[in-house]
Amino acid sequence: MPVSLPLFEQGRHLLSVDQFDRGTLRRLFDLADAVDPIARRRGVCTVLDGAMLGSLFFEPSTRTRLSFESAFLRLGGEVTTTTGFTFSSMAKGESIADTARVVSGYSDVLVVRHPDEGSVAQFAAASVVPVVNAGDGAGEHPSQALLDVYTLERELTERGKTIDSCVLAILGDLRYGRTVHSLMKLMSLHDKVEFRLFAPPGLELPDEFARPVVERGHTVTLCDTVVDAVAGADAVYATRVQRERMTEELSRSISGLPATDTGLAPGSRPAPDLLNRAILTEADNLDIVIMHPLPRDSRPGSFDLSSDVDDLPGLAIFHQTDNGLKVRMAIFLTALGVSVEAVELTTKQRPWKATLRE
Ligand code: ASP
Repeated sequence: MPVSLPLFEQGRHLLSVDQFDRGTLRRLFDLADAVDPIARRRGVCTVLDGAMLGSLFFEPSTRTRLSFESAFLRLGGEVTTTTGFTFSSMAKGESIADTARVVSGYSDVLVVRHPDEGSVAQFAAASVVPVVNAGDGAGEHPSQALLDVYTLERELTERGKTIDSCVLAILGDLRYGRTVHSLMKLMSLHDKVEFRLFAPPGLELPDEFARPVVERGHTVTLCDTVVDAVAGADAVYATRVQRERMTEELSRSISGLPATDTGLAPGSRPAPDLLNRAILTEADNLDIVIMHPLPRDSRPGSFDLSSDVDDLPGLAIFHQTDNGLKVRMAIFLTALGVSVEAVELTTKQRPWKATLRE
């Protein structure tokens, strides 16, 4: 990913969180707040009437694809979509450049997820419309990091704390987890964050992500245990082991983890949870804000966040998913140069009865 990308503003691609400074971040979050009533279906908006989103997902996705598509639809636009390689002409050998040029001719903005790091930037280079990176391999996942920071800031504010000077524990697959890479970069725009990192052997954070954070004056502590990482922390961000990005050999070498995607290797014991209620009890931090980019891997031995934390007061994982909708609406409005005034002018009361929780 090039380091000198322009700030994310009107008409621009969103490829990396490197495209944000604190001002740009604040403007995006203000826009997300402004569209909250539309995200909650208190109003019906047609500001993107006639606009077309091209949604291209070449890797599995539930939240990201559906929330990007819902965000566009909720702003009054239309969506055309393709998922997986099997049903696209890439299965016939079509290049990223040709695909991007063709599909961008049908769309006003593209959202792209692809398994190869740097591939979404290649899409952007050939596209005639703005491209939003919805995850490029083990590279970045900027919209996830944006909704993570948006959520973390709000959770901390509700507890009378600030995102500046917060203590954030980050656990799990820090090597292949692209959401962690984007989150650490975006968090480092704030002041004096203390990062406490815990990763199983072989899944440690690559130095290219740790070094710039330290250079910006933040603290990065590598913890030997999850208890050490979460004790006294304001928030914890747990992540799934990204087995789809590992060789079978590496997967086997990670002690206690199953070797395959489908279950336990013969003779292996299920690994303990990465994070559960007992660990938080031992760390005396049952009130901690609990975050996860999801999906949470619920299979036996998955070494992920246990659902036994789900009734704790700090559980924020579904606040993240709810917030993702309005943050992604704000991304589209920015990419397409739509003002808050235009949104207000094109929003009317819904004529139907909402059955949603308020
Ligand atoms: N949904 C996130 C991603 O696409 C996290 C994950 O898959 O573990 O990167």
